[in-house]
Amino acid sequence: MKKDALYRLQHTFGYDQFRGEQAEIIEHMTGGGDALVIMPTGGGKSLCYQIPALLRQGVAIIVSPLIALMQDQVSALQQLGIQAAFLNSTLTLDIARQVEDQMLANQLDLVYVAPERLKTERMLELLRRAEISLFAIDEAHCVSQWGHDFRTDYLKLSMLHEQFPQIPRIALTATADERTRNDVIQRLGLSNAKQFISGFDRPNIRYQIAPKQNPKQQLLNFLKNEHQGDAGIVYCLSRKKVEDVAQWLSQQGIETLPYHAGLLSDIRQRNQQRFLREEGIVIAATIAFGMGIDKPNVRFVAHLDLPKSIESYYQETGRAGRDGQPANAWMVYGLQDVITLRQFIESSEADDFHKRIERSRLDAMLGLCEITTCRRQVLLAYFGDSPTEPCGNCDTCLFPAETWDATEIAQKALSCVYRTDQRFGVNYLIDVLRGSENERIRRFGHSQISTYGIGKELQTAQWRSVFRQLISRGFLNVDLEGHGGLRLTEQCRPLLKGEQKIQLRKDIKQEKKTRSETRKSASFATSDEELLWKALRAERTRLAKEQNLPPYVIFHDATLMEMVAHRPASLDEFSRLSGVGESKLEKYGDAFLTVLIRYRDGADTQSDTANETLQLFRQRMDVEEIATRRGLKSDTIYRHLAQGLEQGSIELSEVVTLSDKEVNQIEDAITALPPDQQNALKPVYESFNEEYSYGVLSCVRAAWRYKSQQLLGENKSVV
Ligand SMILES: [Zn+2]
Repeated sequence: MKKDALYRLQHTFGYDQFRGEQAEIIEHMTGGGDALVIMPTGGGKSLCYQIPALLRQGVAIIVSPLIALMQDQVSALQQLGIQAAFLNSTLTLDIARQVEDQMLANQLDLVYVAPERLKTERMLELLRRAEISLFAIDEAHCVSQWGHDFRTDYLKLSMLHEQFPQIPRIALTATADERTRNDVIQRLGLSNAKQFISGFDRPNIRYQIAPKQNPKQQLLNFLKNEHQGDAGIVYCLSRKKVEDVAQWLSQQGIETLPYHAGLLSDIRQRNQQRFLREEGIVIAATIAFGMGIDKPNVRFVAHLDLPKSIESYYQETGRAGRDGQPANAWMVYGLQDVITLRQFIESSEADDFHKRIERSRLDAMLGLCEITTCRRQVLLAYFGDSPTEPCGNCDTCLFPAETWDATEIAQKALSCVYRTDQRFGVNYLIDVLRGSENERIRRFGHSQISTYGIGKELQTAQWRSVFRQLISRGFLNVDLEGHGGLRLTEQCRPLLKGEQKIQLRKDIKQEKKTRSETRKSASFATSDEELLWKALRAERTRLAKEQNLPPYVIFHDATLMEMVAHRPASLDEFSRLSGVGESKLEKYGDAFLTVLIRYRDGADTQSDTANETLQLFRQRMDVEEIATRRGLKSDTIYRHLAQGLEQGSIELSEVVTLSDKEVNQIEDAITALPPDQQNALKPVYESFNEEYSYGVLSCVRAAWRYKSQQLLGENKSVV
């Protein structure tokens, strides 16, 4: 059975070997077991049900909430030669009937179904009549109210277990903390299912979190320095900001499309399609965008606003670098983010219990922002992994943050909150601390209190950084009324009493970091390779457009990069590239080979054309005749012939009409050059007052080289 799975992997999907726990999961599912799979994005989750679907008798039902993406998912499978279809509300009745008939006739391997459709009597009836190989519940975290994408339709999925107890089920998600995980198990009736929980790490993603200064400009610098021409996502909290950022970036020459729930659905759909189908599009979006987006070459995810929890942050940043190539998760955040999100929670309608959960989630998120040690360690610890070593691929590892003893400053700030009766916001408190004179301070009589003017040593921006960190770390709360007034928490006591010291982070000034080496997924050693890469991408786009498919459905970037690196020259060699299975070999092998042959590296092309010249030369044509015949300059023809001379396959006297004396003079001029400069003919050309063309000179040099080689060989054999 395992061999069958491996056979499918290699021949249908075109990959050499399974990754992580894939093989075990597939074996378990193929054998009829239930499974819960938690695997990071890009870890190859879908293979875990796709291969069992091919190996088991009957049709697999894949439950997915992503109606807009079903077409692409199905197209991707069809490209591999797999019989797949989908059933959702976008289909006409006729087409839906057709799919149903195919299901009953056992002509399909996989059918994607929206959860709301699954509970209809018509669908249930169909499921009872068809032969079902397995149920896969994708994005399974949607069943949990703890999760961030709760969908009521998912709750109904427990009926699969009740009505079809004999059919194996697999539930999959990329993100679920322990609470969500337990919820998924309970609500889907998976308590007897085998659990496969992979590590959460996405080592190719570099995490960077910086304090907000001039966010749009910071973003622009980041994109210009590290992501020119790359596809990526910029997350913002509000629709208005999405529009604003999309417009601004576009004006700066970075094509950016907006996406949020307030846009007309066909505009939304069109922007999403363009992001998927074109290269190098940036999308500015609210969190409405992204679930199920499986564009593999998203090179960055940027956050201009703070997500509400680490789960959201991880999920959103996880959309970068699904192809395993280097990618950036970049974020800026500031004092106002902290206050807004705190207020958001306090003023929400939720009950105390839920508020408490929300608060603890936000605290964890803020902790991640303020941490001065490895971010990945914190991130993974949140999901229950505990890496022992710092990662070396986050900003705090790469550019360690400095800290300072802020005990006294923190005491001043907290005292000032207390002395002003715990009802003022940050700006006012800073004014009091810095001893500003304004009407409000006079009116409240705060120029008379002991903390007035005791904080002149810090600039306003520095004070904001202090307050941000004090709020983030739970020393201060934001008021319930939503005015942004700050209150002390219990946690302040030891600090105010001098029993505790506090270290704060020194906010780095406007980043002046040099380009990081994540710069490009595809950075090539030579311009030759770059040209080939572009040509291959263009071919992929052409083929994708023809069929109205996203380019990555044809081949991933990684496969194109392998083409550049390995330069396959035959279908057999092409078939060995990762990501090339039988169906794609047949469909696209020729098209890409044609491009590869056209761009065969410079040397090959050079020698082909030189060979042609040599052949004509052997047919007794002279240089001028060959030049005319081939439409090339005579100098070029001389250079071609020089190759023959250097190999000793022709004689110098056949090529040029020079006296022995002239040849000797030229040879002397060449040998007079230092050995490392004998490739440069310019000094020789000039020393003879341009009497001999470069072509002629290169022929003399080639013949001389051949002669020297021969002499060297003779001397060697004498010794
Ligand atoms: Zn790190």
